[in-house]
Amino acid sequence: MATLETPTQPKVRLHQGPFVNEPLVDFSKEENARKMRAAIEKVRGQLGREYDLVIGGKRLRTAEKITSVNPARPSQVVGVHQKAGKEQVEPAMQAALTAFESWRKTSVEERASLLFRVGDLLRERKFEFCAWLVFEVSKNWAEADADIAETIDFCEYYSREALRLAKVELPTQMPGEHDTLRYIPLGVGAVIPPWNFPCAIMAGMTLASIVCGNTVVLKPSSDSPTIAARFMELLEEAGLPDGVVNFCPGSGASFGSAVVAHPKTRYIAFTGSREVGLDINKSAANQASGQIWIKRTILEMGGKDAIIVDADADIDAAVEGVAAAAFGFQGQKCSACSRAIIDERIYDKFLEKLKTRVEKISIGDPAENANMAAVINEGSMKDILNYIEIGKKEGRLITGGGRAPQAGEGYFIQPTVIADIQPKSKLEQEEIFGPVLAVIKSRNFEHALEIANDTEFGLTGAVYSSTPEKLERAVQDFHVGNLYLNRKCTGATVGSHPFGGFNMSGTDSKSGGPDYLYLFSQGKVIGEKVR
Ligand code: NAD
Repeated sequence: MATLETPTQPKVRLHQGPFVNEPLVDFSKEENARKMRAAIEKVRGQLGREYDLVIGGKRLRTAEKITSVNPARPSQVVGVHQKAGKEQVEPAMQAALTAFESWRKTSVEERASLLFRVGDLLRERKFEFCAWLVFEVSKNWAEADADIAETIDFCEYYSREALRLAKVELPTQMPGEHDTLRYIPLGVGAVIPPWNFPCAIMAGMTLASIVCGNTVVLKPSSDSPTIAARFMELLEEAGLPDGVVNFCPGSGASFGSAVVAHPKTRYIAFTGSREVGLDINKSAANQASGQIWIKRTILEMGGKDAIIVDADADIDAAVEGVAAAAFGFQGQKCSACSRAIIDERIYDKFLEKLKTRVEKISIGDPAENANMAAVINEGSMKDILNYIEIGKKEGRLITGGGRAPQAGEGYFIQPTVIADIQPKSKLEQEEIFGPVLAVIKSRNFEHALEIANDTEFGLTGAVYSSTPEKLERAVQDFHVGNLYLNRKCTGATVGSHPFGGFNMSGTDSKSGGPDYLYLFSQGKVIGEKVR
């Protein structure tokens, strides 16, 4: 494995200039489409490989395996992975603790330059990484590109942020003293990501951890371990010292929960469902024998996000925004629009236009770049189909309503719109995490806001209206972490839309924003008497 001292890797090379978002790829250009097709063929030739656990820089195998398959073609194995169990918790923790002693003293410039190198490598291999997402989680080309671009953004953004934090100065000095504030790392973090942004979220929580000087036990989702393994290889290639990230795919319930409960785990960075997030919060609150700190939890969870469409809105723009936010990546985004709350004066017209728009969505193989591909796994498909059946009873089916006819063995579900859903019903309250949109009729803007706020979540939301007072009212009273006006509620961008939700949507950590790295650090004040 490379180390930071490798002669070919200059120790510290920092990118200059302000942060700029990685541009998205225009796949309508033939040159880019050709590159993507070539990357898909290259990755196709690498499917089925076996990957190891990486603990303290050593590659290890376990008897039990995790097999990751292509949701669009479940008989196709994407990667075979080791399955870390309880017995791997202690070695992973010890490796992370050992690495912490040197990594915490490594200069912030070195740590930031590691992230810059990772970003550079990822930029060079962007199409290949996109192709892995196509196969492992059924993202179409643009969705895959957005995931990888966000990962590059995290490399570029968190490195600059760490450099900024290292230069923070106290606004006041005690006369006769030199007073300073340093942000120091916390210790070993458990990083537990979901499968739906399997590169960006997994990498984002890991990169934020290590740039601050922490070391990590990384347990990727069992639905997307291959993309995480490829990212781990990239980290190593960029010069990651042994033990700074310990790569341990494994089951959440055994390995994940045991790492959370370990007395030496200093913090948990988790993104996933409300249920698991709450479990982690509860477990982290216990003081294990030998534990001398309060574990910090950074928990980002589910949503039941709504778009309000007011009577005076630009209906065509609203239809487009609702369709994109409800069905992009098969509705499997925490920010996805799962409720459209429509003013009764435009309700019928909106539904008619929405039906026409949704029926234009193509469903098929993401390798061929269909608009919509498969949902993540069989269990998820069954849950979503069950919700659709409930929805047919709770409301009126407008379009979709079942598995896509061209499904074959893949987990394809039609984009489904169900109208006349009542506030408080199951379809209106519970996160479905699939291509199912509930449409709810509101009497007026006030009523719409009341419905929008009446769930236990509070992640994203959007309002389409041409009345400035109503938009301002939404700013005051639509209680979500990420509110969008006259645009869709998905597609948060690093830097401009720091991301995190209220209520049961999480701890509002605002990833990709200027407050995020404080969560991975602790402030140490030094007041020195000057002679
Ligand atoms: P999940 O909660 O099932 O799993 C998330 C991770 O937790 C996985 O790595 C899993 O293996 C692990 N895990 C499961 N049980 C565990 C336990 N007892 N202890 C420790 N770890 C455990 O979620 P998912 O299905 O992977 O992802 C979908 C969910 O994530 C949705 O609810 C979605 O809204 C949410 N999400 C939220 C955000 C956000 O920023 N708020 C972003 C993406 C996804």
